[in-house]
Amino acid sequence: MCTPTTSRAEIVGDLLGWYDANARDLPWRVGPAARAAGQRPDPYRVWLSEVMLQQTTVAVVRDYFLRFTRLWPTVGELAAAPEARVLGEWAGLGYYARARNLVKCARVVAGERGGRFPDTRDGLIGLPGIGPYTAAAIAAIAFDRPEAVVDGNVERVLARLFAIATPLPAAKAELRRRAQELTPTRRPGDFAQAMMDLGATVCTPKSPACGTCPLRAPCRARSAGTAADLPRRVARRPRPVRRGIVWIARSEDGALWLERRPEKGLLGGMLGWPGTAWGESEPDDTPPFAADWQTLPGEVRHTFTHFHLILTVRHAELPAGFLPQTGFLVPARSFRPSDLPSVMRKAYDLWRGR
Ligand code: SF4
Repeated sequence: MCTPTTSRAEIVGDLLGWYDANARDLPWRVGPAARAAGQRPDPYRVWLSEVMLQQTTVAVVRDYFLRFTRLWPTVGELAAAPEARVLGEWAGLGYYARARNLVKCARVVAGERGGRFPDTRDGLIGLPGIGPYTAAAIAAIAFDRPEAVVDGNVERVLARLFAIATPLPAAKAELRRRAQELTPTRRPGDFAQAMMDLGATVCTPKSPACGTCPLRAPCRARSAGTAADLPRRVARRPRPVRRGIVWIARSEDGALWLERRPEKGLLGGMLGWPGTAWGESEPDDTPPFAADWQTLPGEVRHTFTHFHLILTVRHAELPAGFLPQTGFLVPARSFRPSDLPSVMRKAYDLWRGR
């Protein structure tokens, strides 16, 4: 089924042999040697890493993962943490709905399920924040279920191995089918991680290291000389640019005027500077109250999934005795810049450096 001359078993065996010698050392991973010695992955750590890795790179996730597991070593301890504290520690990872779902999921697992994660893909799907991909990854890695785990790295390896020329995203169904056909019943968790590692370290997007690849013999794209062109993608529409204004105000004693953003929507539940809506036309620059507002030179630029954002930062000293009608004053001693999501932190840094 795989190539005219290489069987599925050979591909799996060669890949697992490569993984045994080359697996990445990741803080949430039980490596092949430890696993062979009988150590089992902790489903809590696998789940936490998989949620953090949604839309975020391994290099960024590493420190967050270590800090979270130091603060909350078990799902029960994470479940008991105040949501605002978890959101604060999450700041910088982006996609804050993930952090809110993280807390919800921990509370379901710790409360309704006695601290144990379901051990199948179907059982995991439907927990807060766990979709089909994350469920398959946890089921395979934590519980050795033979589930196909197809992230962007794995899509690239498969598209090249089988020389699939259909562009993404239309090729997704075929790639998933190929992954499922390859997935072995013995060591499926290691197989899933081996595919990810191969895509991340050898079968890289621009210059795949085919000479050191364990799949070079059966790889159709390598023999056709088309590896660097695959996978194909339908060209994305450029992201629109939105603009807004944030208002940073400080009282005489150093307290800062902040708000908590609405639960629903972008950066839901996070701390932020009061400001205008973000739209594609010029924002309304009517100040929220009378003060000597100044516009900072420079601007904040931030990219979200669906748009680029450009923020103007305006600042003022609060009038004596000012009581905000919206938001709240945070005393200087209680304010932690790390509690701000990245875009708000950028505005703070611009203001600090004025
Ligand atoms: Fe990727 Fe090259 Fe290996 Fe094929 S031989 S899977 S293109 S690194």
